[in-house]
This record gives sequence, structure tokens and C-alpha cells, in this order.
Amino acid sequence: MSAHPVTPSAGPYPRYSVVGPVYNEATGLPEFYERTRAVLDSLGEPWELILVNDCSRDKSLEVMRRLAEADPRVKVIDFARNFGHQIAVTAGMDFARGDALVIIDTDLQDPPETIRALVEKWREGYEVVYAVRKTRPGETWFKLMTAKLFYRVIYRITDVDIPLDTGDFRLMDRRVVDAVTRMREHNRFIRGLTSWVGFRQTGVLYDRDARKYGSTNYPLRKMMKLAWDAVTGFSFFPLRLAIYAAGILFVLSVLAIPIVALLRLATGVQYLEGQATAVTIILLVASFQFLFFFVMGQYLARIYDEVRGRPLYIVADTFGFPGASGGQPGHRAVSAPPDSEAVASSPH
Ligand code: UDP
Ligand code: MG
Repeated sequence: MSAHPVTPSAGPYPRYSVVGPVYNEATGLPEFYERTRAVLDSLGEPWELILVNDCSRDKSLEVMRRLAEADPRVKVIDFARNFGHQIAVTAGMDFARGDALVIIDTDLQDPPETIRALVEKWREGYEVVYAVRKTRPGETWFKLMTAKLFYRVIYRITDVDIPLDTGDFRLMDRRVVDAVTRMREHNRFIRGLTSWVGFRQTGVLYDRDARKYGSTNYPLRKMMKLAWDAVTGFSFFPLRLAIYAAGILFVLSVLAIPIVALLRLATGVQYLEGQATAVTIILLVASFQFLFFFVMGQYLARIYDEVRGRPLYIVADTFGFPGASGGQPGHRAVSAPPDSEAVASSPH
């Protein structure tokens, strides 16, 4: 049984869209294209490969243009500046027209051959098929530890079941793509958004490869930002922490007064004496207060981001999309709302 009919909609839409964000991947891109093409060709249905140049500083754009010129199924979105991995993926999703969409890193850490297993599950009827990392060679001890901790904390404190040890490498059905692209929140955690929409979801195990060329573009700063986007986007737990801290400090302070007094009466020794104690306690409590200022600030900044209502990204140029305008999001009416970036990115 196939839950997804072969020709579900009119129009020359490809069956599969593969979206790959690109930031300084010039050396690896030809191999990425070759391996992805081989896999997609073997599926026997029309496909498109959408590469989003997140303002690379190397020759990535040149390589992408060459690929697009040689193969009309390759399409390129060129950002006006670096907007980050999650936004690059979002742009690719806006422009994609396939019945199934695959998000994949272009640094060959997500082996393109795994797409076959994702598609198999989709053909069985699942709307979201995420790739779960069985092994992760070539990562630092620090990255492995922080990633493990991150996924488990997110799992515990968020209201949606975001699967463990799963990156953005996944396949989504058109209905899921439409639902996710309709959510225009700025600080995006795409893994969370795809879990949040529901539908039938499943995972397939894969061995993540070490990075073959170049080095990671996710320094600690960007990982922290992603972690906060995940937490603030899907949980209010950090805000609730303040009440626990308040409760504990209150109980301690209520207990401290009689205890200190009784000890003084019983032993004659003055406990909690002097400036040192007072200074320590003040610093401790002040540090808690600033911590919660920070937590509130994280939520507040994100509210401000939404209120400004800026577009998620600005497109400088596109190559390989049909139509005189060079291609705009919303080839399928529902995939991009009329007030989306199409306006901001239209040719000047
Ligand atoms: N990437 C991007 N914009 C950025 C940083 C990364 O589009 O600002 C892309 C990058 O080209 C790669 C993917 O996002 O295809 C994952 O990045 P990276 O491999 O650096 O992260 P890691 O795998 O080390 O977590
Ligand atoms: Mg990588």
C-alpha cells in the first residue's frame, strides 16, 4: 500500500525536493551533488535539489552556479547575507515544490545514501521520517557531551516530543512542509517545529560521517543560540525556575533566623557573624537574580524579534528556478503566505 499517490497534484512538480544549506562548502559540493544525484536518480521519479548559499566566503556560489547550469534540476538561492543554518533551510523549504522534502547538510556528514531509507518509510505512509544518529565519528568529546546533554534536557523540559540524537536530516511530506513554512517565527528550531505539527512520525538509524572537507561552522556561540531557541520556542520551564529559587531562598531565610538565635542562646557563639557572611549571601542571591533577568531577557528578546516583523531572510539572487522572476517562494499557494519574504526578496 502506498499512502502517497504517484501524481497527487496537477502541474510539473517534482516528486522529491532536497534542500541543502551551504556555508563555505566549495570543496565538498561536487561530491555532495554527485552522490545525491545518484541516489535520487535511482528512485526513478523527478526531483529537484535546492542549494541555499548562506553568503559563503569561499567559492561555494561559483560551484553551485556551475552545478545549476549543468543540471536543470539544481536550483540555487543566494542570500544577501549570512542568516544561519535554520533560516537557510527555511528558505529552501519555501521554494521547494516536491511532494516529499529532504533536509540534508551539504558537508557530507549526512550521507546522501540514507535518503533511500527515508523515502522507503515515507512510501510506507509516514509523514515525517527523521534520521537518528547511531554513531558520530570525528566530533570532539566536548561536542558529543554537550549534544547528548542538550537533546536530553530539551526532551525533558519541552512539551513536544522532539526525538533524541536527531538533527535536521529528515524527510517531510508536503503537508508537513506546508504546515512548518506557515510558521514564520524568527528564532527557528526546525526539529521542534516538525515534531510540533504532529502527523505520523518515525526514525531510521544511520551512521553520521565525519566532516570530509573544511571545518564546522557551528561554534559554541551558535550552538548556544540554537539551544536557547529550542528551549524558549517550546518550553516555559526556565521561567518557572524562578519560583523554585524564590521558594528555597525564602524557606532558608525563615529557618535561618530562629536557628541562628537558638544556637547563640545555646552555645553562646555568634553564628553567621560579620561582613564576610553577609557579602557572600548577597552575592549569591544577586547572582540568582541576574540569572533570572537573563532568562527573562531571552524570552523578551524573542518577543521583540517577532514584533518587529522583519522578513526571515533576504534573497539576493536565484538561479535555475523557472519563470522570469527567477523564482519566488510559493509555487504552491499554501507553502508561503502572501506576506512572506517573497515581497522583500523580489528583484529591485
Ligand atoms: N551552514 C549554513 N549557515 C551557517 C552555518 C552552517 O548554512 O551559518 C550549513 C553548512 O554548510 C552545513 C550545515 O549548515 O551544510 C551544518 O553546518 P556545520 O556542518 O558547520 O555544523 P555541524 O555539522 O558541525 O553541527
Ligand atoms: Mg556538519
